[in-house]
Amino acid sequence: MSVQNGGFSASVNAMYDRAVQLMDLRPGLVKKIRVCNATYTVRFGVRLRGEIHTFTGYRSVHSEHMEPVKGGIRYSLAVNQDEVEALAALMTYKCALVETPFGGAKGGLCIDPTEWEPHELEQITRRFAYELIKRDMINPAQNVPAPDMGTGEREMAWISDQYQRMNTTDINGRACVTGKPLNAGGIAGRIEATGRGVQYALREFFRHDDDVKSAGLDGTLEGKRIIVQGFGNVGFHAASFLSREDGALVTAVLERDGAVQSDAGIDIDTLHMHIRENGGVKGFPGATYHEDGAKLLEAECDILIPAAMEGTIHEGNAREIKAPLIIEAANGPITAEANDILRDRGCIIIPDLYANAGGVTVSYFEWVKNLTHIRFGRMERRAEEARHQLLVDELERLSKNRDVPWTLSSDFKTSYLRGAGELELVRSGL
Ligand code: GLU
Repeated sequence: MSVQNGGFSASVNAMYDRAVQLMDLRPGLVKKIRVCNATYTVRFGVRLRGEIHTFTGYRSVHSEHMEPVKGGIRYSLAVNQDEVEALAALMTYKCALVETPFGGAKGGLCIDPTEWEPHELEQITRRFAYELIKRDMINPAQNVPAPDMGTGEREMAWISDQYQRMNTTDINGRACVTGKPLNAGGIAGRIEATGRGVQYALREFFRHDDDVKSAGLDGTLEGKRIIVQGFGNVGFHAASFLSREDGALVTAVLERDGAVQSDAGIDIDTLHMHIRENGGVKGFPGATYHEDGAKLLEAECDILIPAAMEGTIHEGNAREIKAPLIIEAANGPITAEANDILRDRGCIIIPDLYANAGGVTVSYFEWVKNLTHIRFGRMERRAEEARHQLLVDELERLSKNRDVPWTLSSDFKTSYLRGAGELELVRSGL
């Protein structure tokens, strides 16, 4: 990362400064919005494999202009204070852009999750959550984490359970975290939401001929050659939706152990299975393997989707990027310097705040669902049932009228109230 080596925060702030120039904000307010309110650092020990291991974690709150503050918890060895602060700022701006009523936050634990067994990860996660819950850094009304790199439904379920154990009388306990499994108060579609959002952002872009032309492209997503960098939750789902539903060709996928390339297009589900079975892209049949995966960022394509980490496209490689259109599926994958270089060359960038906001948008629905204590779909069902009951009551009233040449059987009533009667009603000409 750069902006004179100030790191990720400096890069995010440089872009923020450029954006506020287009607005009429007073300098004092510009600064107040830019700064990160507070970052809590915690170091805790967990006894594992016969000895105490010390872990370092963070929860950064960028802005509490709305509460709760929202943002994921990341598990990675690269986690540090600057990173979580930059990511927290991006959450503030992202939530504002898509009008989810949240402030911005982010958390991180400095850990390589692949080094630990699930039961060990559970202990570590519960201990980290305990530390954050104690200080209201996880709380349905104040601070609501979600999955991010290295975490998912499983970790969110542990966090939710930990909160509920520590707050047994909080009726809204489940809303303390989003991205939970369905059976623990989650919501359908949350896992794939960010990838879905990337697809929708691209579809929207391709609806506007002038924008498409300005990128030197034409037509629709059909047949467009896409390079995906990072095949985690976001990259995989975006690639899967775009190839299956829009007819795009994913010509290269870049992962930790290298990249695979095929001009004919890569079958995304088969690759996903291959990675699960073999731990990487190497050896995937029908595609060329490149050990130096990062080099493929510079390959010819129509759309580049950086979907892994911040700072992937930087001053050092931006001039070599050939993609005319880049969509930031990750948070901050293009540094401020690279952004300038690419823009000067006419490359169109669909920014992260918009492109990857699908996740927090669906998180909002999950939070609302938890707070209302209503299962989605239940309201519609009740309304439907009430409508059926009204009609049956009306028919019953009519049937008591001696002039009516029919009666209402109890069989009909039961089947109609079960929803099957509508057809019967039509059949009997009523
Ligand atoms: N970690 C995701 C993001 O960066 C989701 C945040 C959330 O749902 O709160 O947007």
